[in-house]
Amino acid sequence: MGIISLCVNGPTAKTSGAEKCALIVLPSALSSNNSLSQDFFAILLIAAEARAGTNTLTSDSVIASASTVHPTAAYIHVPFCAHRCGYCDFTVVAGKDHLAGEYLRALEIEIRSLEQPRPVQTLFIGGGTPTHLDAGHLQRLLALATAWFPLDAGGEFGGGEFSVEANPVGLDAEKFDILAAYGVNRVSLGVQSFDRQVLEVLERDHDRAQVEAAVALLRRRIPNVSLDLIFGVPGQSLELWRETLARAVALRPAHISTYGLTFEKGTAFWSRRAKGLLQQVDNDLEREMYALAIDELPRQGFEQYELSNFAQPGFRCRHNETYWAAQPYYGFGPGAARYLDGRRETNHRSVSAWMARVLSGRSPVGEVDILDPADRARETLVVGLRRAAGVDQAAFRQTTGFELEEVAGAAIARHCEGGLLERTATGIRLTREGRFLADTVIVDCL
Ligand code: SF4
Repeated sequence: MGIISLCVNGPTAKTSGAEKCALIVLPSALSSNNSLSQDFFAILLIAAEARAGTNTLTSDSVIASASTVHPTAAYIHVPFCAHRCGYCDFTVVAGKDHLAGEYLRALEIEIRSLEQPRPVQTLFIGGGTPTHLDAGHLQRLLALATAWFPLDAGGEFGGGEFSVEANPVGLDAEKFDILAAYGVNRVSLGVQSFDRQVLEVLERDHDRAQVEAAVALLRRRIPNVSLDLIFGVPGQSLELWRETLARAVALRPAHISTYGLTFEKGTAFWSRRAKGLLQQVDNDLEREMYALAIDELPRQGFEQYELSNFAQPGFRCRHNETYWAAQPYYGFGPGAARYLDGRRETNHRSVSAWMARVLSGRSPVGEVDILDPADRARETLVVGLRRAAGVDQAAFRQTTGFELEEVAGAAIARHCEGGLLERTATGIRLTREGRFLADTVIVDCL
């Protein structure tokens, strides 16, 4: 099926041209334990590929926004995990906990390049598994993050959102107290499944009881808990997926993310599939699984506000909404990306390269993508299409200086005709069928 995968993991990005191409043709989704959408970056990489062609649009009036508006969102990437799961393509190191002190030293140097603290409305610490850090290092990380990115209580939403990704294993009472003490008010928990066999295939080290215990612990002081789930896992039936959805709903989280598993080049899953040791779920079943999520979760009170994300009223992930609105953001840590003044920079994905560069006073940036007004307009369109509400024509004009029709008129007309897009009173959005084929629409709009 054609949903572009929403993997989570903070704004980290892939780097090779081959991977960029693969992102266009792979089927859907995947994920790990966090919240920034890797599929968001998949879109940006597809856009970068498209820019290898020509930009012919021009506009005189465009984009004051990126150069005059300070980011209201900051992301920090923590690469440590207990084990590298076979499907994981994120910037992660396993079995290298002894690097945590040097990582934090490098992170502080990188963040200090800002010269002064920057108040934000959303702060997101993702990974990796931030809560894999021991209590002392976790405390040091949160002290650094909150000193440099104080939450702007006067923001549009009347208080900031401070998210941390966590896994059910290793989140003990001491770490939980540290999260709460530093004002973390949203935790994204990497559950993936409640089924023992599915968790085994994914190489996850927790079980259902540990998920339930972690949710109960978090609930005591952090009511905004999000659960990440994966479908399309080899051996997973529709019934097992239905059961996982039901168990997730029964825990009454504020938010649920559902990602289809993808096989990324370079992962253990990729080579095991090539050797015939792993059988990919067929497209029809994966489609049924996604359909079950988008039908069942709204019935249970979770609004689908984005292709892979469902929230109880008032609990959308505001941080990720920054990306989907194509707004500027800060990013720090290995593989992290930032978007400022129409310039997107992505740090080296290799943790050792990132650390070595920062600690020796060199730039950690591995890739730079300069977006002209037309690039920005196209990206604003395609990331906006991920949202259930779609793209508002007037807001698009105001932000980009372009009309939707100027940017992708032919593709919009074709997909409206073909039933993947529909016009609303204020703009355009994906239809239900369009949600299954979002990548097709996105590629055509670039
Ligand atoms: S827990 Fe597994 S999937 Fe998640 S970031 Fe770590 S290695 Fe990747």
